[in-house]
Amino acid sequence: MTAKIIDGKVIAAELRARVADEVARVKREHNLVPGLAVVLVGSDPASEVYVRSKHTQTQAAGMASFEHKLPADVSQANLLALVTKLNRDSAVHGILVQLPLPKGLNTEAVVNAIDPAKDVDGLHPNNAGRLAGGFEALSPCTPLGCIILTKSVHASLEGMNAIVIGRSNLVGRPLVQLLLNENATVTIAHSRSRDLPGLVKRADLVYAAVGKSEMVRGDWLKPGATVIDVGINRIPKDDGKTRLVGDVAYQEALAVAGAITPVPGGVGQMTVACLLVNTLRAACAIAGLPKPAV
Ligand code: NDP
Repeated sequence: MTAKIIDGKVIAAELRARVADEVARVKREHNLVPGLAVVLVGSDPASEVYVRSKHTQTQAAGMASFEHKLPADVSQANLLALVTKLNRDSAVHGILVQLPLPKGLNTEAVVNAIDPAKDVDGLHPNNAGRLAGGFEALSPCTPLGCIILTKSVHASLEGMNAIVIGRSNLVGRPLVQLLLNENATVTIAHSRSRDLPGLVKRADLVYAAVGKSEMVRGDWLKPGATVIDVGINRIPKDDGKTRLVGDVAYQEALAVAGAITPVPGGVGQMTVACLLVNTLRAACAIAGLPKPAV
């Protein structure tokens, strides 16, 4: 058996096209142009690549994109002042401060300063709490993407056994909440979990969000399981360059799983597409319009 490969590239492109259609509609019917502001502090090369991609994709979807680049030695007060300015700017419906922030800046204080209505990263405690309580919330983009990818294989996740490996605020914890909302039965595993292979073996849905190259082995999987690999790990190659691998031993898993996301070309593709979804939803909510059809 060879697993079905879940093509994040194709699914993300479809999602972006649906967002663009809805953006065109709200523009036409309500004169509303959703706007996303991205704040980049310092010059981390990986962050710069992400920010560029967010800018291009936001514009391609017909939204306004505002980029704010601050030096790595910006003061906490000046960064907070920019967030406050963006909170008040009526052309901005989504605010994303690219993480990680350089050392010396207080990430928690910056995230907490973002207006929860514009918190398209879904990291503000108001949104995290609302999600945990089962209320409508802006949810983190990567977990949202994981759910969409899973639903490309399973129309309903009701009653399925899911395991989420990793409990970060960015991925693992919100993903657990989203899976609960889908009526899955969820196990959350982390670095202190015992017998991880045994826990994974019981799962119909496996989400690996650890940051350890190929940690989840093929023989851990239940035959036919759906595997969503969130991990992005850079491995040095002989020619001095690097290649990307996930948290799952892909070739091994291909032979056992029912469906699997590749790295690259899986979850990573979905994250920015879901950021566009969140920006559109935030814009509609702020303008008092019904939830968009995406
Ligand atoms: P964190 O480092 O914040 O969290 C990693 C989690 O993995 C922790 O909860 C940790 O447990 C757990 N963990 C570490 N070692 C083990 C182990 N041996 N067994 C079981 N669990 C373990 O990472 P993130 O959640 O931010 O990211 C996870 C991965 O996803 C990374 O590779 C990251 O690059 C990638 N990522 C990909 C995105 C995308 O768009 N595709 C977006 C965001 C992240 P504990 O809590 O006990 O320390």
